[in-house]
Amino acid sequence: MNILSVVLLGALNWPKWILIALAVVFGLFVISTITAAIRRWKNRVANNLLGGLKLSDIKKAIQDGQSEAENPTPRTLFGATSIYLPKILNDFPDFHLPEAKNSLNLLLNEYLQIRFGQADKFVDSNAEPDLAAMVPRAAAPAELSDIAFHDCAIRSYIKTSEYATITYIATIGYTAGDKRYEDRYLVDSTLKLSEMGIPKKLLICSQCGGAIDSTALKYCPYCGSGIVWDTKLSWRFTTVAPA
Ligand SMILES: [Zn+2]
Repeated sequence: MNILSVVLLGALNWPKWILIALAVVFGLFVISTITAAIRRWKNRVANNLLGGLKLSDIKKAIQDGQSEAENPTPRTLFGATSIYLPKILNDFPDFHLPEAKNSLNLLLNEYLQIRFGQADKFVDSNAEPDLAAMVPRAAAPAELSDIAFHDCAIRSYIKTSEYATITYIATIGYTAGDKRYEDRYLVDSTLKLSEMGIPKKLLICSQCGGAIDSTALKYCPYCGSGIVWDTKLSWRFTTVAPA
């Protein structure tokens, strides 16, 4: 007779209430374990759906958007830079926000020249070829002066296996003819990570010439030298819309 049988036979002689109590405790244990597992699974699914963002991040971004809509002066910006910048830097270690701001400044300057009939295409900005055609033209051409790019913030960031898109919100003031404007724009900057499902070779190592298809690497996987990542050459402006 093994030990288990002894215990089981012994247990048969225990008072009924002890057996019932043990059954209840065991039942509660099973239920709480299952509930905890379901909760963990739900949290994981929610995190994946939100791209790793916490619900509080989303709420803050929504509140910022509302304050912005209610704010009469477009010079004030409510972005979500602190939420998204760490995620962008995690995916693109060489992303440089001041450099991105300079590119945005240049883009909006060129945008206004096109809008007010002073130019017909983007020359120095790294814009999608069809972006100029999408710029709404002012009723009458006007000379531009005192263009002042105030500030920009990151409004959102999405990365899939196909592309990464950063949406900026930017404010710019200018005089067109004799009228002063203060405008706010939403601008998308996109980096294609694959073309027709084939991962693009995004970087060429300056030391060994190796082609690298990940942007998250700091060192060349072939020769180990540091990688220089040129943000301006690789990201393209795809949309400019009044906000
Ligand atoms: Zn190399």
